[in-house]
Amino acid sequence: MPGTTSEDVTPHGEQADEVRSFWRRLGLPGLVDVHTHFMPERVLHKVWDYFDTSGPLIGGVEWPISYRCGEAERTAVLREFGVRAFTAMLYPHKPGMARWLNGWAADFARRTPDCLHTATLYPEPGVETYVREAVEAGARVFKAHIQVGAYDPADELLQQAWGLLAEARIPVVIHCGSGPAPGKHTGPEPIARVLARHPRLRLVVAHLGMPEYEEFLGLAERYDQVRLDTTMTFTDFAEDLMPFPRRALPRLAGLGDRVLLGSDFPNIPYPYVHQLHALERLDLGPEWLRAVCHDNAASLFGL
Ligand SMILES: [Zn+2]
Repeated sequence: MPGTTSEDVTPHGEQADEVRSFWRRLGLPGLVDVHTHFMPERVLHKVWDYFDTSGPLIGGVEWPISYRCGEAERTAVLREFGVRAFTAMLYPHKPGMARWLNGWAADFARRTPDCLHTATLYPEPGVETYVREAVEAGARVFKAHIQVGAYDPADELLQQAWGLLAEARIPVVIHCGSGPAPGKHTGPEPIARVLARHPRLRLVVAHLGMPEYEEFLGLAERYDQVRLDTTMTFTDFAEDLMPFPRRALPRLAGLGDRVLLGSDFPNIPYPYVHQLHALERLDLGPEWLRAVCHDNAASLFGL
C-alpha cells in the first residue's frame, strides 16, 4: 500500500461527494454494485501486476488502476460513495483453486456485512460438491470468468452445478463476452448452449456482453432470467475500444428491469463516478437509472 498512512484511509472525499449527489438526485438510498472485485491480497496483486503489463488478456491497452490500495481502504471508499451492497468477484484460472477462493470469500463476507457473499466455480471433478457447500454456507452470488478461466461454460463437468444454481435461484455474474480480448470460449454461442439446458439459470452477463452486445441482448430477450451488468460500458475508455451500437439502445431501455449496475471497482482506469455519468448521459431517464443503479439489484437480492 505505497503512499497511504492511517490518516488518509479515505482520500477520495471529493469523488464521494459527486457519487453521493448522483444517487441523491435520483432519490435513491444509495447504490448497489454487483461487480466489484475483492479477493485474497496476493491474488489481487497478481491481477494488478497483470494490468501493469498491458498484456493480451486486457487487449494490450494501458490500464492504470484507480483504486490501488489496501482492502480496508477499498471497502471504506465504497461506503463513502454510498454503495449499500457490493460483491467480491473472484475467479480461478486453473483447477484446484475455486474451493480455496470460496473459503476466503465466505470469511470476507462474514467480516464485511455489506458484501453479498460471493463464490466461484471451475469445471473440475467435485465442483458440484463445493458449489453446494457454498450455497449452504450462504453464498448469494457466483462469479464465472470464461475468458481468464479459458473453459467452455457448457462443459459437461459444470452441468450439475448450473442445475443446482438455477434451482437455488442464485445469480451468476459471468464474464462471457469477447472483450477486452476474445478467449477460446467467449462469445454468445457457448452461453446459448448453457441456457438451452438451464433456461431458468440467473446469468448476469458482465459488461453487457461487450463487444457482442446485441447477441447477448438477444439472449436476455429470449430468457427472462438472464440479466446484464453495466460494468465499464459507456465509459469513454470502453466506447473508444468497443463502442455500444446506438441502434441497440432501445433494446437496452426495454430490458430496464434486468440491467444491473456494475463497475469493476477497484480495477478501473478512471474515477468511479465516471461510470455513473456514462449511464446518465444515455438519456434513458431517471426511472431507468433508479432501476439500474439500485432497485433491480435490491429486489434480486432482497435488500
Ligand atoms: Zn470484472
